[in-house]
Amino acid sequence: MELPFAESYKIKMVETIKKSTREEREQWIKDAKYNLFNLKSDQVFIDLLTDSGTGAMSDKQWSALMTGDESYAGARSYYELKETIEKILGFPYFLPTHQGRAAENVLFSALVKEGDVIPGNSHFDTTKGHIEFRKATAIDCTIDEAFETQKIHPFKGNIDLDKLEKVLQEYPKEKIPFICVTVTCNSSGGQPVSIENLKGVYELSKKYGVPTMFDSARFAENAYFIKIREEGYADKTIKEIVREMYQYADMMTMSSKKDAIVNMGGFTAMRDAELHRKASTFNIMFEGYVTYGGMSGRDMSALAAGLDEGTEFEYLETRIKQVEYLGDKLMEYGIPVQRPIGGHAVFVDAKKILCNVPKEEFQAQTLGVELYLEAGIRGVEIGAILADRDPVTRENRYPELELLRLAIPRRVYTNNHMDVIAAALKNVFDRRNEINKGLKITWEAPIMRHFTVELDKA
Ligand SMILES: *Cc1c(COP(=O)(O)O)cnc(C)c1O
Repeated sequence: MELPFAESYKIKMVETIKKSTREEREQWIKDAKYNLFNLKSDQVFIDLLTDSGTGAMSDKQWSALMTGDESYAGARSYYELKETIEKILGFPYFLPTHQGRAAENVLFSALVKEGDVIPGNSHFDTTKGHIEFRKATAIDCTIDEAFETQKIHPFKGNIDLDKLEKVLQEYPKEKIPFICVTVTCNSSGGQPVSIENLKGVYELSKKYGVPTMFDSARFAENAYFIKIREEGYADKTIKEIVREMYQYADMMTMSSKKDAIVNMGGFTAMRDAELHRKASTFNIMFEGYVTYGGMSGRDMSALAAGLDEGTEFEYLETRIKQVEYLGDKLMEYGIPVQRPIGGHAVFVDAKKILCNVPKEEFQAQTLGVELYLEAGIRGVEIGAILADRDPVTRENRYPELELLRLAIPRRVYTNNHMDVIAAALKNVFDRRNEINKGLKITWEAPIMRHFTVELDKA
């Protein structure tokens, strides 16, 4: 008999989570103005709001905290991290920052100016924010297949090389500070980019004299998908694949809160000494001295350990199989989800489920509230509330997709939790035709409204 799959770790420390009654949740979500961000974590049984900074560190990472060196300059922890980044990613220079968006702030301050364009694959919101804040433009060159939820494609994060080349031809290279490749592509659902595509992008970047930057939050999950799906990579280790991926990058930014499995941290890394010098000034200004930036010594030591563990196949297999397990279970129940299942989350197609709720009443948010009421599970809306208003007309923007994202924290929940999530969503799905009313906005901030929006029953 073939042995079933089991996790590649055992549990040494646990944290109690609280169940609640439907009556309690009805009151709590009302008090939270039907905004899931406003709930206290104690009011949540299973928290799938994000996989960012919510992972469980290992015994090795916790012990690294104890050996951290808190010297202001030249800390041992800094050199541990420097060595690890060079070994795993191949970059000789790096600057530590407090998280991913801070790395963007430091690097883009050195590179991006008004009127620039930055082509890439569905830039992440903070990345786009840091580009637009500098009055530059992000141009989405993702392949068209990425936008069809039911279309199966192994590398939906890929850049369309024709679209990219058009941008490179249209603008002079002085206006393109870099090409931005997000691995895996968060905005298109944690979808990976193939080595073949990374190579193609790099060749174009060299042809046109424009550097390539990897936005690297989920680089290890990307490498896992290359190993599983791309021809010729089945026998390579994750670390070998990661080294190969980064041959095709000149620089990178990293949110360490994802694949490096720490609760806070980030960095930017590069090959060019001159760029490192230039960015160092901004690091000192915004983050801290160059050998700690936004991080304490112990956190740099835990991050070094996390980068090493996070690029081990057994860990990644456990991680990604759990996300797949949930996705498969939902599909088995007939619930429409984005396919193939991405690396860090399952995206539920709320528009296909809540057909009786008009889009003006926020289908994905309504589904998120229903799932919370059903079982105390917190997901996050990726729909019209997030899409916000048009900056010029101030009209609501209604995106093509109304998705409820269920992001799975790393090494935190068991498959029993996945079973509860799937059953709860099935219960909501079974009574979908009785849900005719959504939500209406009673207050919103002028930008980034989704974090603080206040809603009521429509
Ligand atoms: C999370 C993330 C960021 C921003 O990182 P923070 O640590 O949240 O500041 C940037 N890019 C991608 C692709 C991300 O997933």
